[in-house]
Amino acid sequence: MSSNRIPDTLVDTHCHLNFEALYDDADAVIQRARKKGVGIIVVPGSDVATSKKAIELTTRYEDIYAAVGIHPHHIYEYHGSDKPLDEQLEHDLALIEELLSNARVVAVGEVGIDRYYYRDTKYAKYMVDETFVELQKKALGKQMGFALTYGKSLILHNRLAVDDIISVLTDQWDEKLSSKTVFHCCEADETLLAFATAKQIYLGVDGDSTWSKKKQRFIKQVPLERLVLETDSPYLTPEPARETQKFPNEPAHLVYVRDMVAQIKGLRPEEVAKQTSENARTLFTI
Ligand SMILES: [Zn+2]
Ligand SMILES: [Zn+2]
Repeated sequence: MSSNRIPDTLVDTHCHLNFEALYDDADAVIQRARKKGVGIIVVPGSDVATSKKAIELTTRYEDIYAAVGIHPHHIYEYHGSDKPLDEQLEHDLALIEELLSNARVVAVGEVGIDRYYYRDTKYAKYMVDETFVELQKKALGKQMGFALTYGKSLILHNRLAVDDIISVLTDQWDEKLSSKTVFHCCEADETLLAFATAKQIYLGVDGDSTWSKKKQRFIKQVPLERLVLETDSPYLTPEPARETQKFPNEPAHLVYVRDMVAQIKGLRPEEVAKQTSENARTLFTI
């Protein structure tokens, strides 16, 4: 018996191969991931262009799946200088809706609410005010509706906005989204965990779990049956990879996230691989 073999294909449930930092190097990045046993990769969009790029990647590689949607940060595009640009938002959401007929699109995402103030952003005069958050809520509600209409899963992005996201989710929740929804890169938050437990929502674990004690304590409380692994590449490079190169992260590094979860839970990496892969397959119906 060899103890180093991890027979179960790992699933990177959130990896931006469609972003500039990885896109041109996708061949090599995917090859390195497969060598580490990361056989399936889900690529979420963050706007119309990256959603299309995610789909384009599925045509070039096997075992790559796409999600399409407008990320809450990029809802700023429709914020205008003083009022929401509703027409432009509706137009782009219609383009997202068109992409949902593609069979390799397994989810709507990433969508959600984000109150974090990004210093490094393409938007001039970026600020997070209530009209912006209201617009994010509107876009989330509409995209949540897409998931239901087209029978897709839902990838949620939340940052510093637990109450806001839970209010939208509660208003529009449908049983059909149970076990088909994930709080990607889930914040260490008791309210989120309680909501996720009640609604059977999966929680995504990332590379920050390798250095954040807070995340480690949080993950310890979450049953393995609720967890999925993700890299959120090109961001959040885990230890020990980040000691040599912090950016870009890549899906091959998912093994470090798996090993950290194993360490936190006192399980073998194989056990974590098996259960989280099963969870990911259920989440995305793959
Ligand atoms: Zn995100
Ligand atoms: Zn992301």
